[in-house]
Amino acid sequence: MIPALPLRIDVLRGARLADGTPVDVRLDGPVVAAIEPAGALDGEPGQALDLDGFVLLTAGAEPHAHLDKALTFDVIAPPLGDLPSAIAAFHTYAITSDEHDIADRARRTLARMLANGITAVRSHVNFSPGPDPLAGFRALQRVRAEFAGLVDLQLVTLPADDTVDEVHEEAFELGADLVGGAPHLWPDPIAATDRLLDLAERVGVGADLHADESLDGPITLGRFAERARAWSLPRSAGHCVRLGMLPEDELADLVDAIRDADIGIIGLPITNLYLQGWDAPVATPRGITALRALIDAGVRVAAGADNVRDPFNPLGRCDPLETAMLLVTAAHLTPAEALHLVGDGARDVLGLPPAGPRVGAVADLLAVRAESATEAIAFASADRYVLHEGRLVAASVLEQRVAAPAREAVLTATEPGAA
Ligand SMILES: [Zn+2]
Repeated sequence: MIPALPLRIDVLRGARLADGTPVDVRLDGPVVAAIEPAGALDGEPGQALDLDGFVLLTAGAEPHAHLDKALTFDVIAPPLGDLPSAIAAFHTYAITSDEHDIADRARRTLARMLANGITAVRSHVNFSPGPDPLAGFRALQRVRAEFAGLVDLQLVTLPADDTVDEVHEEAFELGADLVGGAPHLWPDPIAATDRLLDLAERVGVGADLHADESLDGPITLGRFAERARAWSLPRSAGHCVRLGMLPEDELADLVDAIRDADIGIIGLPITNLYLQGWDAPVATPRGITALRALIDAGVRVAAGADNVRDPFNPLGRCDPLETAMLLVTAAHLTPAEALHLVGDGARDVLGLPPAGPRVGAVADLLAVRAESATEAIAFASADRYVLHEGRLVAASVLEQRVAAPAREAVLTATEPGAA
């Protein structure tokens, strides 16, 4: 039986940490106050949650979403294809979309993310190509207010090359947090990078750019790094697909520049696996940024899903464990690294305080039914509890029955299926 939510929790009993240690956890309001051996807090007063059979992780953070585009795939019914075709398909739809439609889809997507354990989201927001360019910002601002206390939502502008600076700046009056944009898609990528970073400096907000999202196109990250070296403003870049295609020596120089400028890099496996490589029917490149080189160089790295069920990605579960799975299989990270990128690492790149099952951290937690952290990624059980700042904000209880197989099946060589 799931209680009414949200519900303040004082004690978590019998959870397993990612390293396998069984523990009890005491919360003090929004903060983890103590972690003790399992059973130590048995008599502890307060509201308890029994997590026997669950692995306790830092809650997921989605560092790069497009809530204004989400859940449009079935309506648009675009042909499957690459980034330019997805942009074109969405543009046609966006002309007719309004604030109500955007808010509705954003709300449903955010609720699904929360159910799966995501308590912080950074969404990029388009300037609508129709008569109301700021509709997306008003919609997302409203949804952010509705989800206050459940999900931390950050908004990043995503202008087109013909979005005038005056309109772009108005988005910050409507609650946008960071300057974004995809300068690699504009006619002069370096000048576009400068224009966006100039605006970020003028408004004083920092930047999170869509960077170099192609296998063989221009490289803007070097310019971003050059400019951001002297910044104290927040700075990060998503996609960075081009890095994954560079020869090692060229990559090493760029990775060093990114680290020295302290730009957080956000890898987006599911969407870039889908959007990239359509021209290469054999030996298809993966289109994921150079995560191993970035991690080894000490760059702050996060990972997310990017689009969900829209022309840019027809699929997507709104699940940090789906992204973690792809980081292991398609980007060859260890399971521990993968969980870091969708949890602690993502929070770090988003500028959020540390969270997770450690004393003094914010009690943003995800409990998943699993025997181990790697099994949590593998099976991604729907059985989950999600806490945001010490309150239970989502719970999913799975009821599953499987017919019992016969104890001793006797097969002879003549029966079908016999080995
Ligand atoms: Zn994006």
